[in-house]
Amino acid sequence: MAGSSTLRIKGGKVYDPANGVNGEVRDVCVRDGKVVADVEGGRTIDAQGCVVFPGGVDVHTHVAGAALNFARAMIPEDHRRNLPFVRTQSSRGGIGGATPTTYVTGYLYAGLGYTTVNEAAVPILSARHTHEELRDTPIVDKACCVLMANNEILLDLIEKGELERARHVTAWNIWAAKAYGVKAVNPGGVAAWKWGKDAKGLFEPVPGFSSVTPAQIIQALAGIVDELGLPHPLHLHCNNLGAPGNFTTTLETMKVLEGSRAHLAHLQYHAYGGGDWGTMRSESVKVAEEFNSRKNLTTDAGAVLFGNTVTITADGPWQHLLYKLTGRKWGNIDVENETGCGVVPYVYKEKNLVNAVQWATGLELLLLINDPWRVYLTTDHPNGAAFWRYPEIIELLMSADARKEQLKALAPKALKRVVLPELDREYTLSEIAVITSAGPARALGLPHKGHLGVGADADVAVFNESKDVRRMFAYPRYVLKGGEVVIEEGEVRRSVEGKGLLVRPAYDEKVEGFIRPLFQQYYTMSFDNYPVEMERIEHPEVRPCQQPS
Ligand SMILES: [Zn+2]
Repeated sequence: MAGSSTLRIKGGKVYDPANGVNGEVRDVCVRDGKVVADVEGGRTIDAQGCVVFPGGVDVHTHVAGAALNFARAMIPEDHRRNLPFVRTQSSRGGIGGATPTTYVTGYLYAGLGYTTVNEAAVPILSARHTHEELRDTPIVDKACCVLMANNEILLDLIEKGELERARHVTAWNIWAAKAYGVKAVNPGGVAAWKWGKDAKGLFEPVPGFSSVTPAQIIQALAGIVDELGLPHPLHLHCNNLGAPGNFTTTLETMKVLEGSRAHLAHLQYHAYGGGDWGTMRSESVKVAEEFNSRKNLTTDAGAVLFGNTVTITADGPWQHLLYKLTGRKWGNIDVENETGCGVVPYVYKEKNLVNAVQWATGLELLLLINDPWRVYLTTDHPNGAAFWRYPEIIELLMSADARKEQLKALAPKALKRVVLPELDREYTLSEIAVITSAGPARALGLPHKGHLGVGADADVAVFNESKDVRRMFAYPRYVLKGGEVVIEEGEVRRSVEGKGLLVRPAYDEKVEGFIRPLFQQYYTMSFDNYPVEMERIEHPEVRPCQQPS
């Protein structure tokens, strides 16, 4: 929530790429939670020798809901890994590791200078639980995307070509879930997984349906999201995630999306060549080349770091395969009529060829996509690594030497399957501000986030400038959220409440008369218990939809 403090951040090097400010020494002034042109009185923060960024915005993360709790339960051995949070006057307790609990998630994000997060996958059936956890995730503002690409009611409508009704059903579901955007995960594949199958061919009918194809689902949903005027385009997890040779599906998907906006999630997991696990290689060059030419698209990296984590995705069939490959624990959740979910704990190892290719591919995409405004820093938390390891990726992007050092640890065979050793691009601080804040804020359609111009939310991160960028970005000196100093000298000084960001797209109210009987017939819960009540959203901010004229 907006604070009431008056404050001046004095003499820092400001990186505000949305406003063309590139390392100029200037003051940032704050009043009533917003950036203002000037202030008199109030607190002054001495930021000499510091770098000032707009607060970070995570466009794709998994931090709340049933799947997270399932994962937390599956990896008790991991909970104390980074920092068991001890309750203090200003913070509450919790567990850490790859899937921190709600309070710790908020503290850890703020502790990196992040102030807004997008929970990328919410089934409507468990949206209430997700919102309860988001409400208990302090400091950061929160949006979420509702899973729609395997919703049986919607797929039936797309199959019949009833796209107008499909639009009303989608809009109704967005509001029922109190969501901000629409997520598509393995379109058709998770529905097919209910029968132990997958949807691998973009232009082949989804198993269990007579004619609808993944391509039709993608086109219909991307078109619907645009027609509804949602601030954030369709958020798409492409078919064939993780599979060797899947880059062809990704290139085809980009073509299918022509004429619509879309955000391609965790592109790293969709940029592999080769015919099987033994020959898997990076195809980041081809994927980046195609992506560079398609200005209707944005993406996030889904980068991988070596070490322990846990993978969580609605992509049930993929998770089953991962379990078969690794022999690790496997969890599966079926969400009736809507989606599914799989959980597999995982360790990315430097000497493992597949893992080495994955690690390199994420960095390659970040280095080969030439417009930082269209590619954002993520690890698909916790899938590629926990979000609190972002500073390690920033270091690898800013230093070709740091990359070379890490490349030495890989098996020589792996080096033949990647192009990372040939890439000498190094990110500038301004570009880091774009991929961690300004770009994702723009992609999410949040004009008051990701910049430090007058009127912006006063979400600000102040870092000690240092050659050791990993340390610099891991321990901001100050973080402001809504104008309040929440982190100071690496500690939580004040825990404020964040806002819940959502949209209310227009729909014909009569669509309830269509959905209700389907509920009575197919769902185990009754229709009236389904929509999430507005009271559950903490400090709701309903963002405008802009329908095309
Ligand atoms: Zn994800």
